[in-house]
Amino acid sequence: MFNPADKIQDLQYFGEFGGVNPSISDSSTYTFLSAKTMFDTFEGNTDGCYLYSRHSHPSGLYLSQALAAMEGTESANVTASGMGAITPVLLQLCGAGEHIVSSRTIYGGTYAFMKKFLPKLNISTSFVDITKLDEVEKAITSKTKVLYCETVSNPLLEVADIKALAQIAKKHNLKLVVDNTFSPLSVAPALLGADVVIHSLTKFINGSSDTVGGVICASQEFINELKDVNTGACMLLGSTMDSLRAASILKNLRTLHIRMKQHSHNAMYLAHKFENDGLKVVYPGLESHPSHKLYASMINEEYGFGGMLTIDAGSLEKANALMEMMQQKNLGYLAVSLGFYKTLFSAPGTSTSSEIPLEEQEEMGLTDGLIRFSIGLDNDIERTYQMMKECMKELGVL
Ligand code: PLP
Repeated sequence: MFNPADKIQDLQYFGEFGGVNPSISDSSTYTFLSAKTMFDTFEGNTDGCYLYSRHSHPSGLYLSQALAAMEGTESANVTASGMGAITPVLLQLCGAGEHIVSSRTIYGGTYAFMKKFLPKLNISTSFVDITKLDEVEKAITSKTKVLYCETVSNPLLEVADIKALAQIAKKHNLKLVVDNTFSPLSVAPALLGADVVIHSLTKFINGSSDTVGGVICASQEFINELKDVNTGACMLLGSTMDSLRAASILKNLRTLHIRMKQHSHNAMYLAHKFENDGLKVVYPGLESHPSHKLYASMINEEYGFGGMLTIDAGSLEKANALMEMMQQKNLGYLAVSLGFYKTLFSAPGTSTSSEIPLEEQEEMGLTDGLIRFSIGLDNDIERTYQMMKECMKELGVL
C-alpha cells in the first residue's frame, strides 16, 4: 500500500561535501561553459542545467521531489506561499471567458481571488456545496475548465468526495484541483483522481510557523507548462520559493509523519471529550460528522483524522473571551494559521474567512461563535483538556 512517509524516507540526498543534508544553492544565476548550452536551456532542451533561480534551483527541486513523492505525483513545484501556488494554477488553467466551479467553503484568500480578482480577467466562478454532487454537476457549463475544492475545508471541515469529483471532472473534461493543506499524509488526492494537488506549506508541512510556502503537485507536463519561460504562470508571475527556505522546509518535512500522528491523536481526544461534555464540536473523526464514513474510507489510518476541529462557543463575545482566557493560561495562541506545535485558535468569521460576506457565512453555517482550533503537539492532552474545560466553565461556554 502507498505510504507517503515511506516515499519521502526512501529519497536519499548527499550534500556537496558528503553532508547528510543537501547543500543549499545560494545563487540566483548559474554559469554555462558554452553559450550554446545556455540557449538550449532557455528553450527547455537541457536536463540538469540551472539557468536562473526564478525558474528553478537545486534546493527547490529537492523539496519539490520530496513533496511529489508524498503526493504520488510525477512532479511538483514549490512556491513562495500557498496563495503563490493557487493563483498561478488557476491562471494557467483558465483564460478570459472561462469558468471555475468551486466549493463555497474554502480558505478566505482563495475565495477572494475567485470572487473579486478573477472577474477582472473575465474569469467567473460558481460557488457550490461541494458535498452535493448533483449541485456540482449542475453548475458546470461549456466554459468550465476547473473543479476546485479543499479535501477538508477551511474552516467548516467539510469533506470533499475526491473520487466522485474526479469522475465528474473526467466526464466534463475539467481539471480537478484540490487544496490538501488540512490533510497532508492522511489523504493523497492524486491517487483518488485529482489532477493537481496544492498545499500551503506554511501549515502542517513546515510546522514551525516561521515561514510561508506552497507547492503544486501534478504531472510533469503541467509543471513544465507552469515553468515555461514564455507562457508559464509560475515563471512569469514569479512566486518562486527562496533556496534557504526550501532547505529549511525540507528538514522540517522529515518529522511530518510523527507530528501528524500526534496532532490527530490530540484532536481526536479533545473532540470526543468536548462532544461528551455537550459542546457542538465538528471533527471528521467523530461519528457525528456528516462525512465521517466517507472520510474514514479516504484516509491513511496511520495519520488519523487530522489536527483541525471547531467548537461553537455560542456567540462571538463568548468565543473571544474563551480564546483570550486560553491564551492567558498558555493553552495556545490566539492566532490564525495552523499546524504549529502549540494549539492555535481563531474565530474564522472575523478573521480568516472575513472575506466571505456575512449572508454567505450564515448560509454555509459559519456562525459567529465558531472557534477553529489547530490542535498542537501537547504531550499530556488530558491535562490540556482539563485546563480548557475550566476556562469553558468559568465563561459559561460549558
Ligand atoms: N489553503 C488553505 C486551506 C489555507 O488555510 C491557506 C492559508 O491559511 C492557504 C491555502 C494560503 O496559504 P498561504 O497563507 O501560505 O499563502
